This record gives sequence, structure tokens and C-alpha cells, in this order.
Amino acid sequence: MQETIKHVACPYCGACCDDLEITVEDGKIIEVKNACIIGTEIYHHASREGRVGSPRRRQPDGTYKDITYEEAIDFTAKMLIKAKKPLIYGFGSTNCEGMAAAGRVAEDAGAVLDNCASICHGSSFLAIFDTGYPSCTLGEVKNRADVVIYWGSNPQHAHPRHLSRYGVFPRGYFTGKGYKGRKVIVVDPRYTDTARCADHFLQVQQGHDYELFDAFRMVMHGYADKIPAIVAGVPKEKILEVCDIIKGGRYVHIFFGMGLCHSDGRNHNVDIAINLVRDINEYTKCTIMAMRGHYNIAGPGIVWAWQFGFPYCIDLTKGSHAHMNPGETSSVDLANRGEVDAFINIGTDAGAHFPIRAFEKLGSGMPMVTIDPSVNMAATVSDVHIPVAIVGVETGGICYRMDNVPIQYRAVVEPYNGILTDEELFDRIYERMQELKKEGWTTDEGTWDYATPLADVRPVKEVYE
Ligand code: SF4
Repeated sequence: MQETIKHVACPYCGACCDDLEITVEDGKIIEVKNACIIGTEIYHHASREGRVGSPRRRQPDGTYKDITYEEAIDFTAKMLIKAKKPLIYGFGSTNCEGMAAAGRVAEDAGAVLDNCASICHGSSFLAIFDTGYPSCTLGEVKNRADVVIYWGSNPQHAHPRHLSRYGVFPRGYFTGKGYKGRKVIVVDPRYTDTARCADHFLQVQQGHDYELFDAFRMVMHGYADKIPAIVAGVPKEKILEVCDIIKGGRYVHIFFGMGLCHSDGRNHNVDIAINLVRDINEYTKCTIMAMRGHYNIAGPGIVWAWQFGFPYCIDLTKGSHAHMNPGETSSVDLANRGEVDAFINIGTDAGAHFPIRAFEKLGSGMPMVTIDPSVNMAATVSDVHIPVAIVGVETGGICYRMDNVPIQYRAVVEPYNGILTDEELFDRIYERMQELKKEGWTTDEGTWDYATPLADVRPVKEVYE
């Protein structure tokens, strides 16, 4: 039987396009409409043979052997109880229900709970804590913005439908002329594919964004005559021309990406960007938004703020209270200092994203579990790899779009081979931890046959070669 499911949300990037149409026949996805090429691939991958259909335990010779969910859950529960300071990291690609269930496990285990923001927009958070976040929804950008700035981001590659759904091309309530009524400005060290769509491109010198923001602020404050002929590689005339466009706009919006928060200056670049928004509001309406990468990377910041009061880098080892201090309680720093003794990689790939030194520390000398639908670099060196259902394809749930608007995701097919969801898995790990504690298991008591030193024979370096 063939069925077309409409208004499906895409589980890939932070644009969270929710207008997809998925055609399913006999439980298999046969057609995907409206998604970009990346989103389309996610759905076709879900129906492909060759996916990992059950948990796997790494063997001393480097091969993997299928095990049951009970065995994988038992391994993970014992690992968390025996560890003095386990790290649970990831959550870029799961739903809020899974994040909340993991939060309960982390609290019970006295773990450090962290998400991918720790290595992407975490520095933006620091600026937002200090300066505030004069933001809006993507709907407001579509309906109101007539001047749109992309600074340090390249959505044509990272969020392929962003320009057509929100930022440049759509016709909105007060923007009936679509792209013809908008001025688009791109600031980037490279002439990107997004820059090709811009009316004005400012090629900022790599790592000198702060200076360029400073020049914009000087113009807004009436000191245009004081700025030099060239600032951060951009001629003064160009800066003045763009400032005139900004001042003349009805509604200005700035999207900023990791080019801003991960170049020299980091959180200070975002800080001054937010202050520029404040200055522009003396002339016209202006808002700002971070270009969040994964489809629900905004989710943990919201869910864990409800649960623990902090969005990321949450140290729950003290038992009595949560503690957050990026640099001290952030995953990469903990790994570099060798401060954790067990590692769960969930809904991300620390093997691909962490600095090699940090991942080498996590990948050697401690038990490691990867929870992910796919085989990624971290999964290839984990003691146990537990596959889970793909959110937005095989299970539903709530995910937060880049503008912090919650989107209801839905399942379009049954989970491959009956695999569990993240929420079900973490709930069962929690239940198993309670059973073990009743049996007398503590960090110091209880014997665990994690005797085979698999951690010492993991080919962590080979993964990078
Ligand atoms: S732009 Fe992002 S959310 Fe939209 S279809 Fe493409 S990958 Fe999916």
C-alpha cells in the first residue's frame, strides 16, 4: 500500500524544514519531496539494507559481535555506576524526550552532561549570557526583514533551504516582493556560494571581525570620519555604503555562524555583534540569530535549562547541585585533562569533531559507548555501539529549530529491525541502574567484567588515518 505523509519535518539541519512530503510503500520510503539533497538522503538511508540492526560489542581482535539490548543496557548501566566521573556528550541529533531521559540518567550517575554546543555555539552562549539576545523567529525574518546580513555563515552549504524558506527569497506579509524587496549582505573571509546571492559582499580579513563590527558601531554612533580608509580588509566607502542600507532598512536581521564565534575573538565577536544590534535599533528595528547546525541542537539548551538551570557543560558529580563552567566542565577540556573515566557518545561523532588529542584520551583507558543510528568514527572504537531509531523518520518528538521554536517531528516508518528510541533506551538504562543499586552496586562495590582492556587496543589513531 502506498501513502504520502505531508508536513513532515526534516531531521538534518537547524532550518528544520517542516513541509516535506514522504511517500511510503510497504513500510519503505520511496519518494521524498521538498527536501534539499541532504535531507532527501537521510530518508533514503533509513530504508537501506546494511544498517546496524542490533547493539554490538567490540571484541579483542577488533571485530564486533551482535549482543542483545539487555546486554548493552547492562554494560552501560554498570559502566555509569562504576565510573567516578562519566561524561555523556552529544545530543545534536535526537529529540527533546531523549535529552530529558538522558538528563535523568546523568543526574543519577553523577555525570557531566554536555552537548555539541560545547564545541560550536558555546562561545555565543557566553556572549548571550553577558549581553542578552535581541532575537526573533524565522517567521519574523520572512515576513518583515528587508535587510538580511549573513555574517560568518554559509547556509547555501550548511542549511541549503534557509535562503528560500526564510532569509532571502520568500514573499512574506510585509515583504511581498520577495528577494526583489530585500537587500542581502554577506560578510565572510571567502567568496562563498551564499556570497554569490548577495547584493553586497564584504570580504573581511580572517580573524578581524571584531574590528569591522567596531567600525560599523562608530558609524552608528556618528564617528564615520574617525574610521581609517580600510578596516579589516574592507574599504571605508563600502562600510559607509552598507551602513546607509542598514539605517534605511525597515527591519534588519543579522544571522551569524561559527565563522564568527570560532575565529579570533570568539565570544567577544558575538558580544560586539549584539551591541551593534542595539545601536542599529536607534535607527530602525534590528534582530540577530545564531545559525544553529543540527536540527535539535537548540533542544538540549532548553530542556536542560528546565532540568538543571544550565544549557551545556553541566557537572552533576557533586550530587547536591549542578555546576557549569566552560573551560572547566566542557567535554574537550575534561578529556584533555584526563578527568573522566567513562564516556557515552550519543547522537554525534566525537571521533570526527573533537581535537585528536582529546579524543585519544577518551578513546584509551576507559570504557566507551556510542549511541547512534549509524556507524560513525566514535562507534568504530567504542566497546559497545547501540543503534537507535532515527528521529523524524522512525520516531517522533519535539525538536527546537534554530530560532528556539519547537517543531513536532513525526515518524513515517517503523523503526528498522525494531530498534529502540533514545528515550526508551535511556529509560531502560535508568531502570537497570536502580536494579543494580538495589543489589548493592556502588562506584566501589560490585564486580564488573570490564576486565578485557579493549580501551588499550583501540585503533583510535588508525581511525584518523
Ligand atoms: S535545509 Fe536542512 S532541514 Fe531543510 S531539507 Fe535541507 S537539510 Fe533538511
